[in-house]
Amino acid sequence: MEFDAVIVGSGPNGLAAAIEIARAGHSVCVLESRDTIGGGARTAELTAPGFLHDVCSAVHPLGIASPFFKTLPLAEYGLEWIHSPACLAHPFDDGSAAVLFRSIRQTCTTLGKDAGAYEKLFSPFVRHAMTLLPEILAPPIHLPRHPFLWMQFGMHAIQSAQGFGQRQFQGSRARGLFAGIAAHSNMPLDGSPTAAFGLLLGILGHADGWPIVKGGSQQLSDALASYLRSLGGRIVTGTPVKSLRELPTSYAVIFDRTPRQILHLAFDVLPPRYRWELQKYRYGAGVCKVDWALSSPIPWKSRECLQAATVHVGGSAEEIAEGERIVGKGRHPERPFVLLAQQSLFDETRAPAGKHTAWGYCHVPNNSKMDMTSRIESQIERFAPGFRDCILARHTITAPEFETYNANYVGGDMTGGLQNILQIIARPSLRVTPYSIPVEGLFICSSSTPPGGGVHGMCGYHAARAALTSIRYNRRSRK
Ligand SMILES: Cc1cc2nc3c(=O)[nH]c(=O)nc-3n(C[C@H](O)[C@H](O)[C@H](O)COP(=O)(O)OP(=O)(O)OC[C@H]3O[C@@H](n4cnc5c(N)ncnc54)[C@H](O)[C@@H]3O)c2cc1C
Repeated sequence: MEFDAVIVGSGPNGLAAAIEIARAGHSVCVLESRDTIGGGARTAELTAPGFLHDVCSAVHPLGIASPFFKTLPLAEYGLEWIHSPACLAHPFDDGSAAVLFRSIRQTCTTLGKDAGAYEKLFSPFVRHAMTLLPEILAPPIHLPRHPFLWMQFGMHAIQSAQGFGQRQFQGSRARGLFAGIAAHSNMPLDGSPTAAFGLLLGILGHADGWPIVKGGSQQLSDALASYLRSLGGRIVTGTPVKSLRELPTSYAVIFDRTPRQILHLAFDVLPPRYRWELQKYRYGAGVCKVDWALSSPIPWKSRECLQAATVHVGGSAEEIAEGERIVGKGRHPERPFVLLAQQSLFDETRAPAGKHTAWGYCHVPNNSKMDMTSRIESQIERFAPGFRDCILARHTITAPEFETYNANYVGGDMTGGLQNILQIIARPSLRVTPYSIPVEGLFICSSSTPPGGGVHGMCGYHAARAALTSIRYNRRSRK
């Protein structure tokens, strides 16, 4: 065999899988179609020279909390997390803002009458975050080590964010904050289990923070790649894999790809039932994203917004839920919910001196060609009058353009497939080990496996553990 394992795709999960295999003493080669590595964790000068923009992921609550990344010496390979004073700010029309700080107490000071309810909800989970997070980021079918805590989280998590927010909180500030966080689910907020996203990302904010990466998300990918190379792993870029036949020989092939491309690559060898399961796998809403080069910081009405790298732009919980509901119905909201990051306020490497960058996206129906730039900018202008006057240059990517950029983003879906209850449990199919494809030596490690979307490498780690069993068995039996 040329390698013990071959990985197709160098996204965070592909690199994580490769590292786990190399760490176990096996040879591994990563094949990447583009000329640069990193998948959804790349940075590029999209607008003008000297302005560094995160092409996809920008903010990393899952990255810093990842139980797998925590075991890697990534700081020695150039990774530096930057924490803004606040994790995120959520401005309202009256010029005030709800703010998620690392401290629960400090967060509560921005939530008016819901301070007590917020503290009561989050404190127990944050206290036990170190125990809870590995459970949440594990495959859903597993024996929980802390069943009581797991059940407590699960009973809340399974609800819709809209219903849960209304039951837990009375005021518009806490409801708005929770709705904005839950909207990271990329699903209508009246559906289950969108409360899980609001809870998980909130817990992560208090436990580990919502950092950005100094120099851009590419630095995280580069740190993973450098560490992999130090373990003897190989990475070959500019090599789009079009069929199984062109791969180097190995005991295991691990795809950092989603079901649609696996069907394309391996159709003939897949058992009919598995093929059918991949064919009915569903993708979620797409995204339309804009990056800006700015002449100055965004002129927020609420000064608190200048303390946070992430700003949720959408107003009240009802308005955010309505926008996401409209997207779920296949239409485009006039006032979309915008997830915005302003990295250069906290990382001077992102823009020329005195200048700034911003990154923002909204959800759109899957594969929608609609350019939402002007609606996104109007939403920002609503909370930051004068924003448009600061724009030096902009760069927009529509949902289908995201798929052209990276085939994993089918129709612009950034999460590797819809994250409803069914596809959290059967991701991408209902199997005890969802990472193994029912063909000898084939595995899947992308965000289309548990625990799903985001830059955390946990899909890659779990897939590598499954592949290692097979690699060891096959090596022994062929000796
Ligand atoms: C606009 C946007 C914003 C996001 N924001 C965040 C965020 O702030 N925080 C966060 O945690 N997550 C965010 N995400 C999600 C995150 O980027 C993904 O969940 C994550 O990158 C998935 O990692 P992956 O390794 O599974 O796949 P990917 O990162 O998609 O990597 C797949 C790799 O396979 C390569 N490839 C494709 N075709 C081939 C081929 N034929 N042969 C070889 N290689 C191939 C691709 O080039 C890519 O490098 C965002 C995504 C988008 C699109």
